[in-house]
Amino acid sequence: MTREPLQIWLRDVVSRAGFPNVDEFIAHYDLKPYRFRQLYRAATKELLGGPGEVTPLTKELRESLVARGVAFSAIEPVLLQRSQDAQTTKGLFRLHDGKEIEAVLMEHYGDRTTLCLSSQAGCAFACAFCSTGQAGFNRNLTAGEIFDQAWFFARELKARDKRITNLVFMGMGEPFHNYEAVMEAVALLNDPQGFGLGHRHITISTVGLVDKIEAFAAEHCQVNLAISLHAPNDKLRSSFMPVNRRFPLAELMAACERYVEKTRRKVFFEYVMLAGVNDSNESARELAALMRGHLYHVNLIPYNSTPDAPFAATPDPRIWEFAKILDEAGVPVTVRQNMGRDIAAACGQLRAETQPRTSKVRAAGSA
Ligand code: SAH
Repeated sequence: MTREPLQIWLRDVVSRAGFPNVDEFIAHYDLKPYRFRQLYRAATKELLGGPGEVTPLTKELRESLVARGVAFSAIEPVLLQRSQDAQTTKGLFRLHDGKEIEAVLMEHYGDRTTLCLSSQAGCAFACAFCSTGQAGFNRNLTAGEIFDQAWFFARELKARDKRITNLVFMGMGEPFHNYEAVMEAVALLNDPQGFGLGHRHITISTVGLVDKIEAFAAEHCQVNLAISLHAPNDKLRSSFMPVNRRFPLAELMAACERYVEKTRRKVFFEYVMLAGVNDSNESARELAALMRGHLYHVNLIPYNSTPDAPFAATPDPRIWEFAKILDEAGVPVTVRQNMGRDIAAACGQLRAETQPRTSKVRAAGSA
């Protein structure tokens, strides 16, 4: 399927302003194609704040677009928190219908920055350790609402002569449960005529929806794939990740193998370290057996404990012991650097502090 970035952007921008479709918008303003290309470029490449700032357009057109509510972003920042070391900035955004989502910007040493963004308001998969999962599902984000999170932080960084170098779908929601909008957002983010972030700098993290892993493999794009594994056997994984009952490990691992075969690209496995649950030496050996001999990489994640989930973080020395077992078994492993603990920067935590819990929705199935 071809996903044309300009069309995706226009479609979302005009529908927010109340136009039924792009053709009516174009007819309403009698816009020539170079005019809407100017708008698109101003928003996604030059990162201007809105149509009122696009000076190549006539004053009359600018004023009319602004008056009609044509805007470059549909999400409103309601809270920005910076960690004490100023390396992590967390944003809480309100959508037009009052729902809230989060995105987190991490500024590493040097010029590297990573933006973690949300693909859904809430999440339907109910992983027991995850704050978002405990709060239930609200709705899918549009491609535009996903892109807007990057737009917001790209503008923040631009003011300091910096830019987003890496982007991960590790905020709220399950990206493969909102597959098409996420892939459209990726097309927007990637467009060399626009935002211009290379595929290799983007990572999609999934709870393990096997059918969508197959679809993603068929795209043959260079976006990285990360799987939230978190347990090396079905019994343990099903005990805190309900999705495992629908897509058990054997199916998930088979899909990952086919992905590597098809794309020749490495798969990243995330493994959140939960004290006394999945962090024993035996779990490490079991995980090593699952990983060994494949183009796989394990990323151990220190757990950010949250008040609404009954789990505790594995102490650092245990994490290193666990990593050592994987390493000695020949499995590539890294331990994720923990950032922003003082501002509760893990998935869904900021929203959880400001909103009451909604009803819990179980993972009824994918897509
Ligand atoms: N739904 C997707 C992406 C969202 S979460 C997925 O499951 O991959 C991104 C990662 O953060 C996942 O690996 C998730 O398991 C992990 N995570 C969620 N809550 C966490 C917490 N409190 N501490 C550390 N990692 C957490």
